[in-house]
Amino acid sequence: MKEEETGVETKLLIIGGVAGGATAAARARRLNEQARIVLFERGEHISFANCGLPYYIGGVIPKREQLLVTTIRDFVERYDIDIRVFSEVTRIDRSMKEVEVRNVRSGEVYRESYDRIILAPGAEPIRPPIPGIDLPNIFSLRNIPDSDAIAGYIDVHKPRSALIVGAGFISLEMAENLVKRGCKVLIIEMLDQVMNVLDYEMAAIVQAELEKKGVTCRLGCTATKFAKKGNHIVVSTDNAGDLPADIVLMTVGVRPENRLAKEAGLEIGQTGGIRVDPSMRTSDPDIFAVGDAAEVKDLVTGAPVIVALAGPANKQGRIAADNAMGRSSVFKGSLGTSIAKVFDLSVASTGVSEKRLLRYGIPYLTGYTHPASHASYYPGSEVMSIKLLFSPKDGKILGAQIVGLAGVDKRIDVVATAIKAGMTVYDLEELELAYAPPYSSAKDPINIAGYAAANILKGDVEQIVWNELPDLCDKEDVLLDVRNAGELKTEGTMPGAVHIPLPQLRKRLTELDKSKRYVPFCAAGLRSYIGHRMLVQHGFRSKSLAGGYRLFKGVRKKIGR
Ligand SMILES: Cc1cc2nc3c(=O)[nH]c(=O)nc-3n(C[C@H](O)[C@H](O)[C@H](O)COP(=O)(O)OP(=O)(O)OC[C@H]3O[C@@H](n4cnc5c(N)ncnc54)[C@H](O)[C@@H]3O)c2cc1C
Repeated sequence: MKEEETGVETKLLIIGGVAGGATAAARARRLNEQARIVLFERGEHISFANCGLPYYIGGVIPKREQLLVTTIRDFVERYDIDIRVFSEVTRIDRSMKEVEVRNVRSGEVYRESYDRIILAPGAEPIRPPIPGIDLPNIFSLRNIPDSDAIAGYIDVHKPRSALIVGAGFISLEMAENLVKRGCKVLIIEMLDQVMNVLDYEMAAIVQAELEKKGVTCRLGCTATKFAKKGNHIVVSTDNAGDLPADIVLMTVGVRPENRLAKEAGLEIGQTGGIRVDPSMRTSDPDIFAVGDAAEVKDLVTGAPVIVALAGPANKQGRIAADNAMGRSSVFKGSLGTSIAKVFDLSVASTGVSEKRLLRYGIPYLTGYTHPASHASYYPGSEVMSIKLLFSPKDGKILGAQIVGLAGVDKRIDVVATAIKAGMTVYDLEELELAYAPPYSSAKDPINIAGYAAANILKGDVEQIVWNELPDLCDKEDVLLDVRNAGELKTEGTMPGAVHIPLPQLRKRLTELDKSKRYVPFCAAGLRSYIGHRMLVQHGFRSKSLAGGYRLFKGVRKKIGR
């Protein structure tokens, strides 16, 4: 019999009152009117919009109150939860089934008994032990007080220059919003790309957008020391000298808040997250953990992962509450589906990236397409770049990354749904998606990605990808540029490429040499595919360049061409 049906008076303590914790509290109450539910939150606010913080700092969200998804009063009235803010749970005493709570304002310490606990303490920004990191104008961003501190500093000091350490999605959202506040922004990043969730060539498109908007990116560059000089912070780096800035933001990732769990003897996974089973139960059957602090299963690889995103935290909060209240609900795993706005671009990903597939030794194939967001004859159509990763065995979709100006969000959501449903690239070909000229094309970008991937699987196209370009042999391989002359004039071409525009190729096949292997390329990959089909059917060896010149431009420095 379920507890919610029997009306058992469970005492549930929830530790952490934002995405996972507040959801868990509301769900638990909806399931059990009799339960005693206490929610502890270290900070002043519950259920606030951390995801909106960069936009509040930038002034896009004008009022601070808009960040408060609900007020404590409304939450109490609706759900009858005993909410205790400024209350940090400092210890879980599993033998006594009690927690120790410290009022962070008064210092008062007391104990509270429990039947069950849902841990939702989130993740804290990493602040590496770099000398000078605690200087006053070096900020991190996690909660409303952090955003108050940053916004307040900007209001008072009107910084002209900002240096952001790290190039993850919070860093890039902040770059945009600091530009809005009048700062000249410099990003330094230890890796050789921005947005590590993406693969290099897709990240290159994002970097180009940042630079177009005046943001400088210094990649492969590590901060080694911070020092105060007048009103500036001087950031010393390993290879770019000393970089002065009026304000510094440290956004180099987050670390699960696992201290309470660790000290209580709960199992911690290899990622540092609290280990849970699919019901979100920790190694103690009466304690659950959710959100950024919990280690969950990657839906594609099965590997343990931490997914620091609001959607999974909310879902897990609901599932943990179900189970804490006697229902049986399961979290099957996460795809890490995410999207960020980087100036005019939307940058999205789902499933596994190529670099992670390589790390796990999972075989894959890659399809690149650059379809238009909607019918190109209808105003406002924009090209997006789609990278689709799929299994060479059966075409099962493993991951996708999409970068573009319009229509990115709905396409990534279709792929995320397809991965969850275990679909293949052949299913993407068949998906019947809504079409009218302002919204899509009769062949939606998702269908096109499916066609391109199915062509690869069926052997209709043999391709080389950008990072195989350096392996081409000058004596054996001929780069064949099939774009029109105008494009070459404005965009340039690859060194050593032979130029035959696609419309002329059939007539000029006699100029080609059957002992060579041709690598046709165009802007996006469609004309080179057509050229490839023509070449192979006339007895030539050919490999089409996946992703075309559009992708190549972003990676040419890396591959030295
Ligand atoms: C600036 C920013 C932008 C973001 N943008 C996005 C986005 O666009 N999309 C997206 O999906 N995700 C985004 N995220 C991530 C998302 O906010 C988190 O994944 C999500 O909030 C995690 O939920 P959580 O409940 O696990 O932790 P949190 O929401 O962080 O809540 C944890 C709470 O627990 C409290 N706490 C910790 N320990 C204790 C204790 N011992 N006692 C009492 N209270 C405690 C903390 O004070 C904190 O308020 C963003 C995050 C930030 C910081």
